[in-house]
Amino acid sequence: MDHTVFTGNPLDRVSAKRPDSAWIAARLADPNARVLAVWNGRPFVETPGDEGREEGARLAYITAGEARRIAGDREDGLFFLGLDGETPVFGMEIGGASDPGEGAFERRTGRFAELRGVALALPPSEAAVVATAKSLLDWHRRHGFCSACGNASRSVDSGWRRVCPACETEHFPRVDPVVIMLAVANDKCLLGRNAGWPEGRMSALAGFMEPGETIEEACARELKEESGLVVRSVAYHSSQPWPFPSSLMIGLIAEVEDGQAVPDGVEILELRWFARDEARDVLAGRHPEVATPGGLGIARTLFASWCAG
Ligand SMILES: [Zn+2]
Repeated sequence: MDHTVFTGNPLDRVSAKRPDSAWIAARLADPNARVLAVWNGRPFVETPGDEGREEGARLAYITAGEARRIAGDREDGLFFLGLDGETPVFGMEIGGASDPGEGAFERRTGRFAELRGVALALPPSEAAVVATAKSLLDWHRRHGFCSACGNASRSVDSGWRRVCPACETEHFPRVDPVVIMLAVANDKCLLGRNAGWPEGRMSALAGFMEPGETIEEACARELKEESGLVVRSVAYHSSQPWPFPSSLMIGLIAEVEDGQAVPDGVEILELRWFARDEARDVLAGRHPEVATPGGLGIARTLFASWCAG
């Protein structure tokens, strides 16, 4: 199976140790500790090649000492991501409106790279670490205030929980589940073009789950809404953390009743069935009209898996 980007985070999260502030402090004091700096959702990376070329990109970790100096009195902004073997790995948000990389951030030759552009160039394990850090840091940035009473909340458990000092409500990093499904019938699969996509770009259908739904029900509802098709059965394939800002893509293969697929005209403008040979041409990039689905997304994994069947 093709590797799905953002999957395969190699860190041991050691989640039981997060509330142990002495243990966390000892990890921060470890001279080998590494810190992933993220500015405005962008990880700090180094690339061996020319400016603007992402090939060979690697995360440019800073030391815990550098991070603490930058953080100053914001030291609670250093979040424990886990252990890489024995090496502690932290994430930290670099604030500010202008790109700190422009000022030779920490005298390094790296830069803050837009994640969608650099994700496929990073080693898969590093892309997965970035996905974790970015979603966690985004959550803190967007959830500084208690949703129950409106007071400022504070980060605890090295970034994995927030607590409101006024009403004591606990808040946990959110993950929003999304169903993404390749609909199949009679040895054909269905791709759709979202509103806003250029002609020829097509992918699997998808939508956010709603409260009270099973995965299967959400899949059936989304397919009915976006294509008019009726689901017969749903099979789980695989999943993907999606750090824009913090979704979990639940990849499904949905067998549907054969019938005419009618786009809803709002979210989906065009639907098209592909027999397997034609689908393989799309996957190989040699279809005259339709481009391969989902550069970073799990849609490509689902599609490639079906094409190989
Ligand atoms: Zn509160």
